[in-house]
Amino acid sequence: VPRAEPAYLRGLNPEQHKAVTALDGPVLMLAGAGTGKTAALTARLAHILATRRAWPSEILAVTFTNKAAREMRERVGGHVGEAVEGMPWLGTFHSIGAKMLRRHAELVGLQSNFTIIDTDDQLRLLKQLIQANDIDDKRFPARQLAAQIDGWKNRGLNPKDLSAADSEAYAQGRGQEIYQLYQDRLKALNACDFGDLLLHMLTLLKTDRAVLEQYQQRFKYILVDEYQDTNASQYLWLRLLAQSHHNICCVGDDDQSIYSWRGAEVGNILRFEKDFPEATIVRLEQNYRSTPQILAAASGLIQANSGRLGKTLWTELDPGDKVRVLGVWDGPEEARRVGEELEALQRGGVSLNDCAILVRAQFQTREFEDRFIAIGMPYRIIGGFRFYERAEIRDALAYLRVINQPADDLAFERIVNTPKRGLGDKSVEKIHRLARASGTPLSRAAFDILDSDELPPRARNALAGLMKYVARWRDEMNNMTPADLVRQVLDESGYTAALQAEKSVEASGRLENLSELARAMEEYETLGDFLEHVSLVMDNDAADQGDTATIMTIHAAKGLEFHNVFLVGWEEGVFPSQRALDEGGTASLEEERRLGYVAITRARTRCSILHAANRRIYGQWTSSIPSRFIGEIPADAVESEDSMTGGESLWRANWSEREDPFAHLAKDPDRASRRGPGWQRAAHLKGGFDSTPNRVKENRRSAVSLGNKGRDDIQIGARVFHQKFGYGTVAEKEGNKLEIDFETSGRKRVLDSFVSLG
Ligand code: ATP
Ligand code: MG
Repeated sequence: VPRAEPAYLRGLNPEQHKAVTALDGPVLMLAGAGTGKTAALTARLAHILATRRAWPSEILAVTFTNKAAREMRERVGGHVGEAVEGMPWLGTFHSIGAKMLRRHAELVGLQSNFTIIDTDDQLRLLKQLIQANDIDDKRFPARQLAAQIDGWKNRGLNPKDLSAADSEAYAQGRGQEIYQLYQDRLKALNACDFGDLLLHMLTLLKTDRAVLEQYQQRFKYILVDEYQDTNASQYLWLRLLAQSHHNICCVGDDDQSIYSWRGAEVGNILRFEKDFPEATIVRLEQNYRSTPQILAAASGLIQANSGRLGKTLWTELDPGDKVRVLGVWDGPEEARRVGEELEALQRGGVSLNDCAILVRAQFQTREFEDRFIAIGMPYRIIGGFRFYERAEIRDALAYLRVINQPADDLAFERIVNTPKRGLGDKSVEKIHRLARASGTPLSRAAFDILDSDELPPRARNALAGLMKYVARWRDEMNNMTPADLVRQVLDESGYTAALQAEKSVEASGRLENLSELARAMEEYETLGDFLEHVSLVMDNDAADQGDTATIMTIHAAKGLEFHNVFLVGWEEGVFPSQRALDEGGTASLEEERRLGYVAITRARTRCSILHAANRRIYGQWTSSIPSRFIGEIPADAVESEDSMTGGESLWRANWSEREDPFAHLAKDPDRASRRGPGWQRAAHLKGGFDSTPNRVKENRRSAVSLGNKGRDDIQIGARVFHQKFGYGTVAEKEGNKLEIDFETSGRKRVLDSFVSLG
């Protein structure tokens, strides 16, 4: 007698059923949006556990966001009970990569408590290297090299794997060399960038048989969601790990590949079929998410792309409303309009949790935030590093990093004179110079330099004050909760006081953010755990905060669904983005169109597309042209409304004959620099200016490492010259510290790296 099927199998359609129960050998599930790929992958995970094919710790399951990982864990937990508790290898590529790498850090020359640096730090490091190596950073900007290094890492390439041709175009023909120096520097700092989390592991799996076999045997099953957005390095990593059991199941949709700018290769889908010829290929066609009208709009739009694998989608749901296209006067009106619609939905009994506003770019969110605050509409912002990117949060985190990780020079640089404590660039340079000469981290050199008279008294006192606290915080970090620690650090460092003294509206917002940070830290037991979390959050999706509308980027919305979706800013230069338009060519435009497809297919019941006739971008009004994508949606799937013309909508206008509304951005990057951070970022994106101070130039002269033992060429009795104190005679010597009788300024204690033989 066949037993009744378990709950997680009931309700699956035959194709899904096949993908879930084909437990021997590789499976590739290719299907359009909303066809239940993620649902099937989750059921497969439940099935593997329920049939005891593998223990939770023997399954590697990769999701695209941390949030998706949490959801999968919860769902599977609902199906098979406590068995999921130990699913250590369920997460994003980054989080799984970081976890593995910590276990084997010493094999790649790191310690297990390595720091994960973000893109800001990455850029700062590269700028230093570019300057220290006398490379013209105007012609070869750090930003460009940073992007290239990411690109190499995404392709699984270490410096030694590069060909001369690969490296030629970068850093004055020294791309490979600077990449190597960058990697060396990261190791010296006991740090990794995001690309390294996977690259180091990949390199290790390729070179260390024992490690490879350990993981190949461990992972009886591998499951990968959003497979179309994996990069080459991730693919190679998966393929190596799947070699022993071959039970790898990947699900994806070529039409939703939206991360090629981050190295994703949709060709990995074809590669899979080649590398695993015995794979079961499953195609799903029934869409369970969206109404036929929404589906027709999305399918019509994506048809304008060439080179698709192509697929059919159908649904059994009622036709539903057409997609609405709303033309409004300007950005503020767009925000007002969405606010009103949300209020109307709320009055009709709709939960705000079922509503989302999807933007193409982060900067678009502010207008909605302002409006929603004004009308008391509860909202949350998801995506990017928004919260953790704020200057005050990054400052606080830098303090915590210095405490947790003495070798973290980048963090030390950030805090040494923040808040301003009277340490000028000159003094900071001296610390740098000493660190280089003695081969120690900056925070160590800062302690050492206090034993000398190198710094002017004011700077010395300021530094002594800071370092006394640093030493104490390090002592106490294990006896305090991370939340208490950060509160204490902010008080004792003078950071809070400095903000309070400012008395501006902005400063009080910053103080609020800092207390929010402390609140967020309450969930963590150790400082290390918290810092790991911060470096990994791709989506700072705060836990459910009651009934709130969601504002997020389309990129962050991948895989999610909402009943009511507002797609805003569908204008040329916003969506498709100016960048895609500047690049010309079909590839970037097709990626934007896939993004449009992802956006529309997030909607279950109602989808509204808005475009404004005028938009103020970075402080300047421009008239804008409706997105070409609006015109590409089949006319019978949309219903348009135009608050300005009342008649034929603007999007019918021929956009190609109009002037590019954003051209001024590219033409005058200097103007951008006078307009605050948003502008600067925009100008940078356009490959514009570079305004790094030349502070580190000085250091390149002292790059020789002398070690802490001191110089052999300086003996007691030698006559020496010191930049500040002039000529003198060495009276005492202890390691690298000298007591010198100076001719005009008396006896001083100085460090030998600061004197020359006179
Ligand atoms: P995307 O491409 O956007 O990631 P997807 O293919 O992963 O979409 P899911 O998110 O898994 O799709 O499913 C879409 C919706 O359809 C969900 O609400 C899910 O619960 C529902 N669903 C999936 N399979 C079935 C089914 N067999 N019967 C009924 N509903 C289903
Ligand atoms: Mg999905």
